[in-house]
Amino acid sequence: MSAIDTLLNPKHRRACTYKAVKPFLYKPMPAIQLKYFKAPSTEEREAYAQETDLICSQCGNKVAVLGRTNTITNEVDCDLCAIEDYKYFEGFKTIKAAEAHRRRMFDTGYLLTEVLIDDYIAYYELLDHEDISVDEQQILTEISTDLQNMTPRPKKIELQNTLDQAKIERHYKRLIGQYIEWPRKRLSA
Ligand SMILES: [Zn+2]
Repeated sequence: MSAIDTLLNPKHRRACTYKAVKPFLYKPMPAIQLKYFKAPSTEEREAYAQETDLICSQCGNKVAVLGRTNTITNEVDCDLCAIEDYKYFEGFKTIKAAEAHRRRMFDTGYLLTEVLIDDYIAYYELLDHEDISVDEQQILTEISTDLQNMTPRPKKIELQNTLDQAKIERHYKRLIGQYIEWPRKRLSA
């Protein structure tokens, strides 16, 4: 969320107004535990950014790690500027606390994909995640994106602010149970 988004969207509730987030305004909120997704390391992201030659629209430095892209103007910001903004607009007191909370925004999305993968594994009685082909993985990711797009923004923010990961997973299981009916045969395996 950029500064302009916040100004244009006064209904947006700041993270700091959520009771569950209050203890984590200074210290980082615990990370979402992911089983399958490995976020690229800072080194990997830096190496990737070196190839793209991007300049941050805010600080004017070369973007070592991409923070966000404005899809309308195509401008990019480095992660440091994006986190600095996030800290300010969401009401965090330290960069580390803002960074951890912002990370949860992405990871609650990945978590839905993981719950979906587990549902798929259980349905087709697969051995494990390794049993899923690249094509299947691709389709599962698309289904996860559709489910996320169906989720209203306030609900997404509420999930991001839910400390108990098991509670988030239960919500996702209900969502999948409600909307997903796996075909008799596996997806283009
Ligand atoms: Zn920057």
